[in-house]
Amino acid sequence: MKIDLHMHTPRCGHAQGQPFEYVEAARRSGLDTIAFTDHLALPDGYDPHGAYAMRPEELDAYVADIQEIAAASRSPRVLLGIEADWVPSHVAETARTIASQPFDVVLGSVHFLDDWAFDDPDHIEEWSLRDVAGAWDEYFETLVQAASSGLFDVMAHPDLVKKFGHVPPGDMTALYEDVAAALADAGVAVEVSSAGLRKPCAEIYPSEALLAAFRRAGVPVTTASDAHTPAEVGAGLDEVRAAVARAGYDAVVYFEAREMREVSL
Ligand SMILES: [Zn+2]
Ligand SMILES: [Zn+2]
Repeated sequence: MKIDLHMHTPRCGHAQGQPFEYVEAARRSGLDTIAFTDHLALPDGYDPHGAYAMRPEELDAYVADIQEIAAASRSPRVLLGIEADWVPSHVAETARTIASQPFDVVLGSVHFLDDWAFDDPDHIEEWSLRDVAGAWDEYFETLVQAASSGLFDVMAHPDLVKKFGHVPPGDMTALYEDVAAALADAGVAVEVSSAGLRKPCAEIYPSEALLAAFRRAGVPVTTASDAHTPAEVGAGLDEVRAAVARAGYDAVVYFEAREMREVSL
């Protein structure tokens, strides 16, 4: 089943195109199931230019828009999702906001290490001040913490830390095995995303080595484009699905009312 469980709307301040155009694009691409997962508002101070996420007061209208579109679309099936940041100092607030809406699926994302937006091109210079291996350790520690919080159904772009091509030397096997075991314990799914193909790292999130570790640990997977324009809906999905199959998966998952549903790849 062709699933794209991650896409945005202009409400986040950095995506273009109306939701109905995303749905039309999904229909043209033969997708069976899609989820809108716009960025949940960030705590004060994390989004100074309003370019990362919707404003808190937009959440109700976002939910109403997507519910209306979902009700009107038989094919593809349209799910109501949200992409929520892991901000450890605001867990209770994030949990309350998530619980206040009838989401089908909640993606958990690590876009910040402390207050460093490490994947924002405007903050790329910070990378030259950091030890890359240290940043990777901190990133994956944070990802495991987020996954273990119980807030999220799916961990999005699970090795986003590689976005600009900063990869430490050496063998990553032990790190990947630990991360995969922790995510399996946490009971979350992970996203296999084509977004990395469109970024300097030029490969899917997660890497094939990390995906293989997830498979060995029994972590379920979703597939996604992280589209920020209608043209990106379903982009790279063939490559993503091929990687999922190569890793040994024959099933993928999606979520309805936050219940995991497994379907054959
Ligand atoms: Zn993201
Ligand atoms: Zn996203």
